[in-house]
Amino acid sequence: AGPDRPAAAAALLSYPVAEALAPYRKLVLTLLAVFALGLVVLVAGGLAIARNLTRPLRELAGVTRRVAEGDYRSVLPPTRERELADLADNFNRMVVAVQEREGRLRHQAEHDADTGLPNRLGLASLLTRREIMARPYAVVMAEVQQLPELRTVLDHQSLNALLRGVGERLERLCGAPVTRVATEAFVVLIDPEPAPDVVASIIRNGFLTPFQVAGTTVDVGLRLGLVDRDGAPLDLATLLQRAHAALDRARTAPDGTAWYDPSAQGAHERRLSLMSDLREGLRAGEVQFAYQPKFDCRAGRITAVEALVRWHSPTRGFVPPDDFIPLAERTGNVRHLTHWALEQAVARIAAWRGEGHELAVAVNISATDLADRGLVGRIRDLLQRHRVPAPLLHLELTESAVMDDPGRALDLLGSLSGLGVRLAIDDFGAGYSSLGYLKRLPVDELKIDKSFVMNLAQSEEDRILVRSTIDLGHNLGLRVTAEGVEDAATVDLLRGYGCDMLQGYHIGRPTTVAELENLLREESHV
Ligand code: C2E
Ligand code: CA
Ligand code: CA
Repeated sequence: AGPDRPAAAAALLSYPVAEALAPYRKLVLTLLAVFALGLVVLVAGGLAIARNLTRPLRELAGVTRRVAEGDYRSVLPPTRERELADLADNFNRMVVAVQEREGRLRHQAEHDADTGLPNRLGLASLLTRREIMARPYAVVMAEVQQLPELRTVLDHQSLNALLRGVGERLERLCGAPVTRVATEAFVVLIDPEPAPDVVASIIRNGFLTPFQVAGTTVDVGLRLGLVDRDGAPLDLATLLQRAHAALDRARTAPDGTAWYDPSAQGAHERRLSLMSDLREGLRAGEVQFAYQPKFDCRAGRITAVEALVRWHSPTRGFVPPDDFIPLAERTGNVRHLTHWALEQAVARIAAWRGEGHELAVAVNISATDLADRGLVGRIRDLLQRHRVPAPLLHLELTESAVMDDPGRALDLLGSLSGLGVRLAIDDFGAGYSSLGYLKRLPVDELKIDKSFVMNLAQSEEDRILVRSTIDLGHNLGLRVTAEGVEDAATVDLLRGYGCDMLQGYHIGRPTTVAELENLLREESHV
């Protein structure tokens, strides 16, 4: 400090910082405490809100799942939150709407639009319900008989009204819901008491009263198929199949009513594989010929045989020709039999010739064989291969086979006859005859059907018919054979009429090669 100026005084104040800040530390601590408390409250509140929100959402998820599974009874419980309450309300309304719509769709799917009756699906749910409740029942299937006629007479609307009426009447008579499973077929699941036969006759009586439709009186005839639920539960497919099988039998029943018959079903099923079994049997040697002698009246001995098929199946036993040949003809399988038969017959002729027997063999051929373009060539080859003279092979065919398609038959028969093979008309008189065609056919022989011959000695009428048929055949230049000759009196009569050939049990039954050879040696058979 200088003399003119007062010396500067300096004071140094000092104060500890900690002491100075001491009042603030309390504040900071308070603030920290407040903050911590706030955080705790916030977290706790958040958790509480979250729990309030997720509980209803979780419930919603649960209810949605149950609704998806088809349980429409579950609804959301009321809640206090406004937004959630709205959501729950809307959801519940939606469930009701879906339920109604589903009900409508289900009704449409399970009912028939024309009559309003439950349809197949309706029957399926009825059936499931009965099976679940283990309530016994029987099945009635009713089929309206004259549907094609009714269709041509009634318009669509009247026909529906009629069918509705049929359904209602059935329902009243059976006391059970009626379902419509096809245009003309209704199914009712009835209680086993009273017996289904009784219900069937109640229905029959009930349908004696005609219907009034569009001012017209209409009689409705029903065919009834009955099915017992025997033991095991029936599914819809099995039920309908059995009912149809019963209806099928009802078609030929005198009162138009029939039961489902499981044993007949077995026969049906066996028929399904009959043709493949036959083809296999032909290959495996299960099929053989029985040979039935034909006696030549002029020569006084057996000059020919008819080859008749015999099938001994290892699984089916003996199957008579009438049980499989008509089916083979309808299904186009007869050509397999015919091919086999021709081979056998020609080989047999050759074998007998080798043993010194000049015997003709007659083979039956079917209408469908006449459409076989390869037949002529096949026969020509066979005859050549076995060195057999054509006139020893005889072919028998019925009039109806020729009349199926006379033009085609004439062509083929012309070619066969050109080969030198002999042709015979079988079962003459049994079918419809056309004398005009008979004159034009290149045939050599007429076989009078056994139905006219079997009672010849007893029936004056048959005698007249047979006698004039023999004359007719002779006038056409044909040889005449009588089949079904069962007694000596018939032999005498036929000889008297000038019949050329005799065939029947009295001459000899269809038999094996060995037995036939014995018969040939005896030569005292008439
Ligand atoms: P069909 O050609 O009229 O044969 C005569 C049938 O009458 C044979 O029956 C024979 O056993 C039977 N019969 C013979 N004599 C007498 C008799 O004195 N009294 C009676 N009541 N019956 C007699 P089968 O052998 O049962 O043959 C039935 C039918 O099967 C044959 O009638 C024929 O149409 C057909 N058939 C047989 N074998 C063949 C074949 O190889 N091919 C074809 N396509 N049909 C055949
Ligand atoms: Ca025959
Ligand atoms: Ca015959």
